[in-house]
Amino acid sequence: MSFEITILGSSAAVPVKGRHMTSQHVRIGNQQFLIDCGEATQHQLINLGISLHKIEHIFISHLHGDHFFGLPGLLSTMNMQRRTDPLYIHGPRGLDEVLLANFKHTKTDLSFKVFLYDNPTMFPEVIYENEKLTVETIPLTHRVPCTGFLFREKQKQYRIIPEKLPSGLPFEAFRALKRGEDIDFQGEQIFYKNVTLPPRKSRSYAFCSDTKYSKSVISKVYGVDLLYHESTFMHRHLDRANTTFHTTAHQAGTVAKEAKVGELLIGHFSARYGDLNNLLEEAREEFPNTELAKEGKQFTILERE
Ligand SMILES: [Zn+2]
Repeated sequence: MSFEITILGSSAAVPVKGRHMTSQHVRIGNQQFLIDCGEATQHQLINLGISLHKIEHIFISHLHGDHFFGLPGLLSTMNMQRRTDPLYIHGPRGLDEVLLANFKHTKTDLSFKVFLYDNPTMFPEVIYENEKLTVETIPLTHRVPCTGFLFREKQKQYRIIPEKLPSGLPFEAFRALKRGEDIDFQGEQIFYKNVTLPPRKSRSYAFCSDTKYSKSVISKVYGVDLLYHESTFMHRHLDRANTTFHTTAHQAGTVAKEAKVGELLIGHFSARYGDLNNLLEEAREEFPNTELAKEGKQFTILERE
């Protein structure tokens, strides 16, 4: 099953030539998600050949414009292209008022249903779940209520070794073995450990933007395969980071190191930095396996034994 994150926008607060406002596309198996929807998100989706209409759920971290001003435009385009599938939006309280005012004054009557859910901001909570995956909020520390999102595959099943099974085994017996249960078949016991391989590891992706450096994030993202953490400033601008409730590249590297994640992506770069490699080097001093979350880059989390 695929598990891919595509960066649509990496800029903080204002756009810079070649850098757009925050948004990421997540594809897990045949499901597609959007995290944040800054201006130009729909342009970036089109540029990268991603269909707007396959997106089922949109997760909005907080109500600063650089994280959601692209949403009315995206919904309008979906409407003009006569989308019919429902769309599920998980955002902070108040997002409904913003969207409704938009549609009221533009006299827009959407061709599809939109289900809006308020994100719990005080405690981590599962806000979406299907048979393979959960999405949980990560409470963050910002100037307005803000949450990150943790995408985590559920515990996977044992893998059957077909040549080790007798023929004629009923479907229910297969399912029981995959769950790790021993079965009786024609008077003989079959031990799941003898006929299966262990489950593959469950994969996880954590998105943390925007936030002041906070140790509480470390336990929430502990051991994830891939962590996106905002790195708005260089550490020499720590004062600015503190007053605006943002993180420095050094601090993001520290979070990744202490949380023992697999890989770190840094993004949400202040427009004051032309060369992002300085931010990258600073984060890598703390956590070497770090990459820049630049526009158009795709990060894949591979299946592991
Ligand atoms: Zn913000």
